[in-house]
Amino acid sequence: MKLRILGCCGSSYPGQQSPAFLIDDNVLVDAGTVSAALNGEEQALIEAVLITHPHLDHVKGLAGLVENLLINGSNRSIHVYGMAAVLDILKKHLFNGLIWPDFGVIPNEAAPIIRWEPLEPCTSRMVCGYSVFPIPVSHSVPASGFLISSQSSRLLFTGDTGPTHLLWRYATELSMLVVEVSFPNSLEELALRSGHLTPHLLETELAKLPDTPRRIVVMHLKSIYRRQIIAELASLAQHRIEVMEDGTVYQL
Ligand SMILES: [Zn+2]
Ligand SMILES: [Zn+2]
Repeated sequence: MKLRILGCCGSSYPGQQSPAFLIDDNVLVDAGTVSAALNGEEQALIEAVLITHPHLDHVKGLAGLVENLLINGSNRSIHVYGMAAVLDILKKHLFNGLIWPDFGVIPNEAAPIIRWEPLEPCTSRMVCGYSVFPIPVSHSVPASGFLISSQSSRLLFTGDTGPTHLLWRYATELSMLVVEVSFPNSLEELALRSGHLTPHLLETELAKLPDTPRRIVVMHLKSIYRRQIIAELASLAQHRIEVMEDGTVYQL
């Protein structure tokens, strides 16, 4: 499994892109960044997009991606997966014919650019040869993490979440845990209110894991606190924690 980081930041500035993770060229997990990282040929290879939750920093690249596919004459659909509550918000508030065209019926209802693929929580579905298992997490809107597994790899994305429980039940034998940490310890109250983690809250979450992931990689750091968060993560003696960077390619 190849994992390419198109963006992993919790803020957007030049050189710092919103979350989007490309698996083996054809499966995108979140779509905060697409056209800033992928050329037209690479965009055309994407077959499936998994959406953790409908916040703009996780979905805005999808708008441009589907428009590019249409304009470039692609006659195939892109399959957009997520919990039904997540997809319903995207349909109602983004692809609603007002904020952006309804690509669920364009160019026609029989063969639209977007095919919405609602997922049942805690039920696996095969997507491009991977088992995809959505697990609800604790954020300010409906949100899930995704456990994505192949025969040899198990990758768990938390998406955005505050302290949570159900997710960790499935965090066994992980090749990699991709977990959010948005704020420094001094902003714990804000993190809890907005459904995010700090290094200290992460430490408490990691204690809930049934076993230790091979790699733990954090993402979604708010830029102005990045150095502070990294210093606080380094002081978590129990765990070796890596900080994700845009453009990195992992082989799992
Ligand atoms: Zn969010
Ligand atoms: Zn976010």
